[in-house]
Amino acid sequence: MGKIYGIDLGTTNSCISVLQEGRPHIIPVDGNGIVPSVVSLDGTNLLVGRKAWNRAAAFPEQTIRSVKRLMGTMEKLTLGGKEYEPEDISAMILRYLCDEAHKIEGREIENVVITVPAYFSDAQRRATMEAGKRAGLAVERIINEPTAAALFYDHVFASYGEPDLKNSSAKGSRPAPSQRTGEEYALVYDLGGGTFDVSVLRMGEIIEVLASTGDTHLGGDDFDKRIVTRILRQIKEKDGLDLEDHVPAVARLNAVAEKAKISLSEKASVRIEETHIPAPKGNCTVSMELSREEFESMTEDFVDRTVASVEKAMEEAQLSAEKIGKVLLVGGMTRMPVIAARLEKIFGSARMPVVDPDLSVANGAAIQGGIISGENCEQILVDVTPHTLSLESISFDFERLECAPIIPRNTQIPVTRARTFGTVSYHQKAAELKVYQGESHFPEDNTLIGETYLELAPAEAHCPIVVEYSYDLNGIVHMVAEQKGYSRKTEVRIDSRNPQLFSSQGLKEIEGDTENEDEEEIEVEVEEGANAINFVTQHARNMLSKMPAGEKKDVLAETLARYERALLDDGDDGNNVDEIEDELLSLMEEEIEVADEDADDNADEE
Ligand code: ADP
Ligand code: MG
Repeated sequence: MGKIYGIDLGTTNSCISVLQEGRPHIIPVDGNGIVPSVVSLDGTNLLVGRKAWNRAAAFPEQTIRSVKRLMGTMEKLTLGGKEYEPEDISAMILRYLCDEAHKIEGREIENVVITVPAYFSDAQRRATMEAGKRAGLAVERIINEPTAAALFYDHVFASYGEPDLKNSSAKGSRPAPSQRTGEEYALVYDLGGGTFDVSVLRMGEIIEVLASTGDTHLGGDDFDKRIVTRILRQIKEKDGLDLEDHVPAVARLNAVAEKAKISLSEKASVRIEETHIPAPKGNCTVSMELSREEFESMTEDFVDRTVASVEKAMEEAQLSAEKIGKVLLVGGMTRMPVIAARLEKIFGSARMPVVDPDLSVANGAAIQGGIISGENCEQILVDVTPHTLSLESISFDFERLECAPIIPRNTQIPVTRARTFGTVSYHQKAAELKVYQGESHFPEDNTLIGETYLELAPAEAHCPIVVEYSYDLNGIVHMVAEQKGYSRKTEVRIDSRNPQLFSSQGLKEIEGDTENEDEEEIEVEVEEGANAINFVTQHARNMLSKMPAGEKKDVLAETLARYERALLDDGDDGNNVDEIEDELLSLMEEEIEVADEDADDNADEE
């Protein structure tokens, strides 16, 4: 295998790196290697990177930025009257990085490792892989950005002793890995243009992610918007102009605000002076002073949110702040002094080495590429699932639908886990299988990523259904469900970019066992009790919720309660489940007929 390049495909900026003689080296695309993740149309020419960025403020309608925020959605983007999917735009950025790197390196780039925020969902990871494919690249691995940053930190620290991370090609003698300071924990705080990630890692020979959390909708753009809002308010007060919805003005102001924000990382105050703000009737102007202090208080809630995530990550890793040996700051936004100041309050400055916040992710990806191609095998990367993956089931008390976790969040991947559920009723016809990701017990608070049905062979109630989830190294989910003893089996094919379409695919019978090549041994936990799906109760409950109060509703509620109790008792104390089910069904049928008649009456009246 040839060289594997590491790509940080960022919301705002992207970067490409490769190992040279065991050291990661940023390829200086667009001058310094920090390539704006921007695509712009100039006549019939598609521009990417710095050139596109330069046009962004003047031609916002012909420019696409922050496409990473749309990855994993079905949203379409238009450019020059043509429609694109987010994957297409990301593919253009990847292609540009590789073409430019090719010109500089003189070597064709085919294999890559791409990083994503740790908090990226399955759909977002898949979309990222798809973008790589559309760019004609072989995506060897998708890895989490904080993991990459830590890998880079560890590599440089191990290589050069002193973490002089401002310059990754720093000279120094390379101590043997055994001379390292031993096991310690690190926290990676990554605040970029559009996403925030925080992870707790165990550093050492093996880097292990203990916890990762964050916010896919918090980044520098949000900080910029606060400044834009302030400027818009001033224009409104001064000129009586409301430019909030005037795209060219907002685009111009975004650029102005970002510039001001960046200056405030160096200076205590900045003068915002702009004479060419496009307004519907001619240009307008703004002139205002913004101090760092003011800016910090305007955006304090954002920083608070990141600090809350930091605490959550430590809690999940079951580590107190004293246990964290290193805090790595990643992402351009961490150049804002208040970020380091807030974290220093928690961790102290001694534990915060200076890592180049813009380059460490791409460099880490290059190191991972080297590990895969066998160039550098010192570190082994262990990654974890960012979300809990669960199956919708009926709660033990039959009160509600809940999510039964199959692969808990922060489980090391690759992993295959199975859990046994049971049918609720005798001769149950099918089981509805809904895959959720998220931390809530309640399906409505989690994200549905796929669903299917398993048609069942006639069997007793409580017939076991084994549901197995696999989570591979790229963070992609596969589900296999099987009715035990009847070899009825279904496999989920999650088109997670479009979970709704997926559900209509229905049942797929497969033969034999699915392969679990590089996955860990299957663990099967058998659940106590019937934690399963019953359409009768579901429909009855649904119906009850829509019925007006009255005797009929009371009778139905009473019968349903009796039915549910009978299901739980499983006929043990002389209950006849089938009889009660018939009773319940006939009540429900009556209700449906009444509803139909009402509907007909209404239609007649009209
Ligand atoms: P991403 O990983 O999302 O692509 P980056 O890590 O490149 O993002 O960070 C981009 C963000 O960092 C932008 O919002 C940019 O304005 C901000 N940024 C860059 N440099 C500075 C700085 N010196 N001070 C404050 N913010 C900065
Ligand atoms: Mg980034």
